[in-house]
Amino acid sequence: MTTEDLITKIEKAIIGCKKCRLYKNATKAVPGYGNPKAKIVFIGEAPGYNEDQQGLPFVGRAGKLLDLMLKTVRMERSDIWIGNIIKHRPPENRDPMVDEVRSCAPYLEEQLKIIKPKVIVTLGRIALEYFIKEAKISEHHGAPILHKDKIFFPLYHPAAALRNASIAGILKEDFRKLPKVVSGEIKPIELGGSKIRFVSQEQISLI
Ligand code: URA
Repeated sequence: MTTEDLITKIEKAIIGCKKCRLYKNATKAVPGYGNPKAKIVFIGEAPGYNEDQQGLPFVGRAGKLLDLMLKTVRMERSDIWIGNIIKHRPPENRDPMVDEVRSCAPYLEEQLKIIKPKVIVTLGRIALEYFIKEAKISEHHGAPILHKDKIFFPLYHPAAALRNASIAGILKEDFRKLPKVVSGEIKPIELGGSKIRFVSQEQISLI
């Protein structure tokens, strides 16, 4: 099977998925979209209203901002692949529940195994913490992280940038680093293993 065939097979499984409650209120599943041979993959949280209507990721206001950012680094959607952790829209755009994330996780895992991207760009807190539990978006945005042999590049979510001008500025600046992250000119950091290294003596006695 070709890469395209493999991706299409997963898309079909996602479209028919009833593993959790979310399919019941959704209009369309949103399996992901783009170049299955891309070096860069963007991962968001879950479809919103527009994505649910169209069955495509990041097609609302946040998606338009993402397209503008891509232009600043001379990229287009056809250069990348975009998906979400959750494939059906949660009601009222609430945060995904733990069992919903667990049900959906194998799809994204398979998609990433097929695409084999060089860099995984996480959009927002939920996507970052999904891959790297110990990471914090406020601390780690804009700096690539090497984690389990993969390079992650955490960015703020474009929807957060639409709500907050200072986050918009940070996202714009961070985004500019993307080509250098992909070329390897900006080297990834590894997050420290034990958190005990960062706590005070007093706190250690409480652990
Ligand atoms: N926000 C997301 O996290 N994903 C989308 O597809 C759209 C908005």
